[in-house]
Amino acid sequence: MDLRAKKSLGQNFLVDTGYQQRIVEALDPDRSDTLVEIGPGPGALTRHLAGQGQRLLLIELDDRFAETLAREYRDRADVTVLHQDVLTVDFAALGVPPAQLKVVGNIPYNITTPLIFHLLRPEQRAACIVLMIQREVADRILASPGGRQYGALSVGVRVAADVERLFNVPRGAFRPVPGVDSTVLRLRPFLPPPLAPAQEADLRTLTRAAFGWRRKQLQRILRDSPHYRLDAAGIAALEAAGFDLQARPETLDPQRFVQLAAQLRARGLPHDTAPEPAWE
Ligand code: SAM
Repeated sequence: MDLRAKKSLGQNFLVDTGYQQRIVEALDPDRSDTLVEIGPGPGALTRHLAGQGQRLLLIELDDRFAETLAREYRDRADVTVLHQDVLTVDFAALGVPPAQLKVVGNIPYNITTPLIFHLLRPEQRAACIVLMIQREVADRILASPGGRQYGALSVGVRVAADVERLFNVPRGAFRPVPGVDSTVLRLRPFLPPPLAPAQEADLRTLTRAAFGWRRKQLQRILRDSPHYRLDAAGIAALEAAGFDLQARPETLDPQRFVQLAAQLRARGLPHDTAPEPAWE
């Protein structure tokens, strides 16, 4: 079988056993856990995961790897291969409450943002998620307010989960050697989700508008954005409620964005005629 790496599926295989083990340890698997691996490929992490929990579910899109893994684990009742695009997997329909799942993956970097937001959908949040992602995206997720890297992604992820940077992984640990640096993150989603789906949608609209014009003052953004069109009375009311609208969006921390979105919602904003944007 041809097991050459496919660039289109983000295939950079982790060949360093030390890092493979560290990633699995970071998940802290328990015998009672249901473990889910995203993109097992030739099985670098899978070998360390098998037998560590009660069940192991492998989600792989590539026909070659899905077939090879199904053959390799056919005698193991505790291992199941799901030959599917992970972005179409309903984590709430895997036969276990999602809050009891532990999810791990050296993921295809071309789907990092949609995958993280898929995993953070309120109805399918796992107990723990350990992901290898590109370092630059990890930096943006973890960026502090005030910096250039802080943006809609930082706010969107950090209102949904506690995020830790565990360790960086050098390019030489992979084959083929990737053109970017990598970092392992651990996310512990907030459960129950503190924001309702409608509140998350409002937050997404607000942060996308705000960071789309990050050099402008918030009052100008809220006045000019087609989602808000806030008039002078609306601006004055928000200022009276304690918001500094002369500030730039990057100065607000994630919780302040949540509060601002709630105040805007109390005024019927954003207008529901405007289409809802994706996180990134
Ligand atoms: N886990 C292996 C390792 O660490 O060496 C492979 C990691 S490789 C970076 C990413 C894996 O995700 C590949 O096996 C690839 O085929 C798979 N993949 C790519 N897109 C996928 C998708 N949408 N759904 C599920 N698996 C996908």
